[in-house]
Amino acid sequence: MRFYFAFFTLIFFLLVLNMTYIIQVPYTRNYYMTTFSSICSLFSSPMEVGRYMLENPYTTTHKDYFPNDCESKTPPFGKWKLLQRPIVGDHIHLLYKIKLKNRYIIFHDRNLTQTIAYESPPICPAAVSYAYKKQFYHTGVHSHCDSSPTNAGIIHIHPWSAPIKLRVEGREVTLGMFFESVGIEHSTKGLGFLIHGEYYKLKMEYFVHASIHTATFRSSKGDEIENLWLPDCHGAVLLWDSSSEKPEITKEDIEFMNTFSCYPENYPSRVSLK
Ligand SMILES: [Zn+2]
Ligand SMILES: [Zn+2]
Repeated sequence: MRFYFAFFTLIFFLLVLNMTYIIQVPYTRNYYMTTFSSICSLFSSPMEVGRYMLENPYTTTHKDYFPNDCESKTPPFGKWKLLQRPIVGDHIHLLYKIKLKNRYIIFHDRNLTQTIAYESPPICPAAVSYAYKKQFYHTGVHSHCDSSPTNAGIIHIHPWSAPIKLRVEGREVTLGMFFESVGIEHSTKGLGFLIHGEYYKLKMEYFVHASIHTATFRSSKGDEIENLWLPDCHGAVLLWDSSSEKPEITKEDIEFMNTFSCYPENYPSRVSLK
């Protein structure tokens, strides 16, 4: 009898354990390391960086560990962050081609201030000709207005050039950041993307490298397009609306892209091009 009681209690306990999970806000991951583990066990992608934080009462510095040389290294005890590329110091370039109404478009960075019109005639004193002025910021994800004879453009990503508090790194480096830099707005009412005064429903293909022939990811959902992560140097983004044919990546596009380098030279890649 006592055996059955113990048995069913154990089963019940295991069942409860099986149904238990933890929600962390904000979500984080825990890594359990031992003095026998190598730093490699931290990484699940070549795009990750292990940052060991060195603090003293007066200042904070860090030492970065990368997946490409992690094998013989044991993680020191202390405080760690897991980052994703690109990080401050990286300078990468991606190819883009965008076709609307069957015409290719190349972007220049937007004006960093924008005046917003009144909604109704102003009654406030000392009225100016606009309701308020919006200020945009350089984040390090932008255009240099480069374009090839074949209508390919380049997305430049270099987080270091932005003011410290406005830099974006890792998963915050998105196509939406590029869109903001060049003045493309995503409608919150489901109208699509506002480009040069008109709304478009976009289709998108993403290539982790411009020279692979099959898209790595496709979407026509606005939020997936806006939040597309851009960590791949010499990756490519194709965008087109429903009245256009899908843009193609040509040999000339790739030659043009190759004139823009990847820094540092050993910047990781998610695809092997052998
Ligand atoms: Zn730049
Ligand atoms: Zn650049």
